[in-house]
Amino acid sequence: MPATAVTRGGTPYVPTYADSIDPKKCIGCGRCYKVCVRDVLTLVDRGEDDDMDEDDWDDEDAKAMMTVKNPGDCTGCGACGRTCPKDCFTFVSA
Ligand code: SF4
Ligand code: SF4
Repeated sequence: MPATAVTRGGTPYVPTYADSIDPKKCIGCGRCYKVCVRDVLTLVDRGEDDDMDEDDWDDEDAKAMMTVKNPGDCTGCGACGRTCPKDCFTFVSA
């Protein structure tokens, strides 16, 4: 049974939480970071990821990519996914 929350008006809904960001699609634009009010996301240098090289990601000029740093702080608002121009996010219910 997934966790439920309620709107201010008392309507129940099932939050879906930011679980992962596709490193191949992410262009490091920062849109998702700007809309998240819970400090869940962080930008990392692609040079820190030894498992990937430039041929692996969509935009070879993207020097950074977003990651889900604090998944436990996510409220499941979904704003990050809605603002992402590359459809990078995967969400899960709790
Ligand atoms: S779903 Fe909301 S709280 Fe969670 S990472 Fe995205 S913007 Fe932040
Ligand atoms: S909005 Fe999408 S493409 Fe932009 S940094 Fe976030 S995950 Fe990456």
